[in-house]
Amino acid sequence: MKHLIDLRSDTLTQPTPAMREAMASAPVGDDVYGEDPTINRLEEKAAGIFRRDAALFLPSGTMANQVAVHLHTRPGTEVVGESRSHVFNFEMGAMAALSGALPRPVGSESGILDPGRVEAAIQPEVGYATPTALLLLENSHNLAGGRVTPLERMRELVALARRHDLPVHLDGARIFNAAAFLGIDASELAAGCDTLMFCLSKGLAAPVGSMLVGDRVSIDRARRIRKLFGGGMRQAGILAAAGLIALEEMVPRVGEDNRRARKLAKLIADLEWIDLDPEEVETNILFFRIPEGAPFSAAELKEKLKSEGLLVHALGSDSIRIVIYYEIDDEDLDQAAEILRRVMK
Ligand SMILES: *Cc1c(COP(=O)(O)O)cnc(C)c1O
Repeated sequence: MKHLIDLRSDTLTQPTPAMREAMASAPVGDDVYGEDPTINRLEEKAAGIFRRDAALFLPSGTMANQVAVHLHTRPGTEVVGESRSHVFNFEMGAMAALSGALPRPVGSESGILDPGRVEAAIQPEVGYATPTALLLLENSHNLAGGRVTPLERMRELVALARRHDLPVHLDGARIFNAAAFLGIDASELAAGCDTLMFCLSKGLAAPVGSMLVGDRVSIDRARRIRKLFGGGMRQAGILAAAGLIALEEMVPRVGEDNRRARKLAKLIADLEWIDLDPEEVETNILFFRIPEGAPFSAAELKEKLKSEGLLVHALGSDSIRIVIYYEIDDEDLDQAAEILRRVMK
């Protein structure tokens, strides 16, 4: 039996042995009463990493983003964000369903918002326009192929929001990958954002959970909204124990996943039916386009690769997404490239 290489998503990461051990012995309590010592430790640690007052442990990134949207908006107001952002596309329309908020999508080349286009999307304060309530950022940008918005651009966007009196929420599901690419501290990249979300459950390998980070007042309100959305958990310190290991042991190594994604891109960029610039592979996500005239669609290529033991994600008719995470080593990359080479012939 061939060894299967599964590059569909970094959500496939299994908890590490250290995580399972920590989970088994974690002291726990009722977190709705604020009495789970392991969750309290995780929340303090996450707040500390981002040099903020407080943090909140939630069951998913989607819930963390949606709690933030609920916190910052009122029904009938707009959220300005990049058109391919996760909040607009992959969260079941939750911002409309749960908060009555509308998306104001702004297009971009590579997931990096242009301040001029953002400014044009902010509605004037007149008695007939839909009020703008929130600027939503995503860094790294999942659907844009893991692209990173540089620090200078983040600062410009935050300053722009300030000038318009708008709060900023950062969907930083993979912010540590973005920070590793830039070679800076994640707290610096998130500076000035009112709230930020990051996932413990993706490349950081925890089985469950995301964190929402912000000032004390916002996080106190977010805790109530989490309960409103059904996300109040009890002895979830079992899960937070894995999150603590994720922050201690996995955060420092995500740069390796970034480097491997670039390496794989270089191994396959010259193949005939792959349209890919390795220089654009900045973090652990790699997208390639299948050029026009190719003898297969993305869905067909995905099936062919699967029969050879390589799992990838097909998006639309001509895009393939590959994601690297800690269980994928250099040998896997060579084998994945070899399978792609074989299938392309
Ligand atoms: C995965 C992801 C989320 C949501 O996380 P879940 O835990 O799957 O709900 C939000 N934003 C981005 C950019 C993501 O990649």
